[in-house]
Amino acid sequence: MTDRTFTMIKPDATQNGHTGGILEMINAAGFRIVAMKMTHLSEAKAGEFYAIHKERPFYGELVEFMSRGPITAAILEKENAVEDFRKLIGATNPANAEEGTIRKKYATSIGENAVHGSDSDENAAVEGNFFFSKLEQF
Ligand code: GDP
Repeated sequence: MTDRTFTMIKPDATQNGHTGGILEMINAAGFRIVAMKMTHLSEAKAGEFYAIHKERPFYGELVEFMSRGPITAAILEKENAVEDFRKLIGATNPANAEEGTIRKKYATSIGENAVHGSDSDENAAVEGNFFFSKLEQF
C-alpha cells in the first residue's frame, strides 16, 4: 500500500467544471486511479476530515467550503506518489504556485484551491480509508 496518495477535487473546482481537466492532468503526470467517487461531505464529515486543523483560524471557513458542494475523492498510485503529487498540485496559495501545477491553473484563492493532496504516506492511508472501504481500493 505504499506509493499511494489521496486527493479530492474540491467544491470550487467541481462547481466550475474543472473535474475533467484536473483528472486529465493527474493521468498525464503518470498517476493511476485506484479508487474514485463523487460525493458531498456533510459539515460533520468535513469537520472530521480536517480535525487536524481544528485550532487554525480558518477551520470554520474550511469546513463550510468543503461541505458547500460535491467533490471527487480518489486514491492515486505512482512511484513516490505523495511527494510527486504535492509537486503537481503546487503551493497552497495559488499566488505562489508554479506554472504547470493544478492550483496555478484552477485555484482561485488560498482557501478555494481546487485540490487536496496528502502530505505523508501515513495521512494518505488514513485519508483514503476515510472515503473508501478495502473492497473499493483496487
Ligand atoms: P495544503 O496541504 O496545501 O492543502 O494546505 P494546509 O494543510 O496548510 O491547509 C489545508 C487547507 O486549508 C488548504 O488546502 C486550504 O483549502 C485551507 N486553507 C489553508 N490556509 C488557509 C487560509 O489562510 N484561509 C482559508 N480560508 N483557508 C485556508
